[in-house]
Amino acid sequence: MMDTKQGQQDFFRALAAASLLIVDYDGTLAPFRVERMKARPYAGVLERLATIQSTPGSGFVVVSGRPAAEVARLMEPLAGFAIYGAHGLEVMEADGQLERPALDERDARALKTARGQLEDLGMTAALEEKAGGLALHWRDEEPHAAERMRALALRQWTPLLARSSLRILPFDGGLELRVTKPDKGDAVRAILAGLPAGGRAAYLGDDVTDEDAFRAMGESGAGLLGVLVREEWRETAARLWVRPPEGLLDFLDGWIEAARAEPTSEKPTGRR
Ligand SMILES: [Mg+2]
Repeated sequence: MMDTKQGQQDFFRALAAASLLIVDYDGTLAPFRVERMKARPYAGVLERLATIQSTPGSGFVVVSGRPAAEVARLMEPLAGFAIYGAHGLEVMEADGQLERPALDERDARALKTARGQLEDLGMTAALEEKAGGLALHWRDEEPHAAERMRALALRQWTPLLARSSLRILPFDGGLELRVTKPDKGDAVRAILAGLPAGGRAAYLGDDVTDEDAFRAMGESGAGLLGVLVREEWRETAARLWVRPPEGLLDFLDGWIEAARAEPTSEKPTGRR
C-alpha cells in the first residue's frame, strides 16, 4: 500500500494524455441506503464527474453490480457516459443504448439445461429468467411443496456447478442459479482494451467484488491505479486508500487538475 498522498501525487504527475477514471457506484460514489433507489451520489461528486467528462483527454465509466439503467437514473442529470451494469453482463453506451454481451458458452448451456429440467418437472410457472441467471420462486407455495421444489432444484443444479461459473444463491422465497462471470475484473479488462496506447486509468471501488477489478488493474500494466474507497482500511489489491466522501472528492479534484494541465486530443470513453 502506497502512502496515500504521495502515491496520489505520483500518479497524477504521470497522468497521460488519455486518462480514464473507472468507478464503482454503491459505497464509492454514493453512500449505502436501505432504500436502494435513494442512494444518490455524495454532494459534489456529479459536478466533478461532469468536469472530468468535459475535460479534453479525460473521461469516466461506471462499473456496478446494479442494472445499468438504475445507475443511469441515480446519476441524473449527468448523462453521456458508459455504464457496465450487472458486473458487465450489460453495457449501456454513452448514448443510452443497452447491449448484453454474450454469456460464456458453458454458462449459457448450463442455464439452458437447468431451465429444461425444471420445465420437464412442471415448474415452468415458478421460473424466472434473468440476465445471467434463473430464479425459482416458491413464496406462494405450501411449506411441503416449497421444500420439494427446493430439493429438486438443488439436485438438478448442483451437478452443473462443476462445469460452469454458475453458483446457487438462496433468496427469500426461492433459489437463484446465476453466473459469476463476468466479474468486475472482466469488465475492467474489456474497458482497458479500449484505452489508447500509453493511456492511464484508475479504478475506484469499495467492496470485495472490486478486488477482481483491482487485480485486473495490477496485472494490466503500468500507469493503472486501483484505489480503495472505504471508511476503514482492509487487506486489498488496491494501491491507494481514500476515505469517502472527503478523500474521494480530493482525488477527483487532483484528477481534474492533472487532466487540465495535459494538452491532448484523444478522448477515452471506456468503449472500443
Ligand atoms: Mg460498491
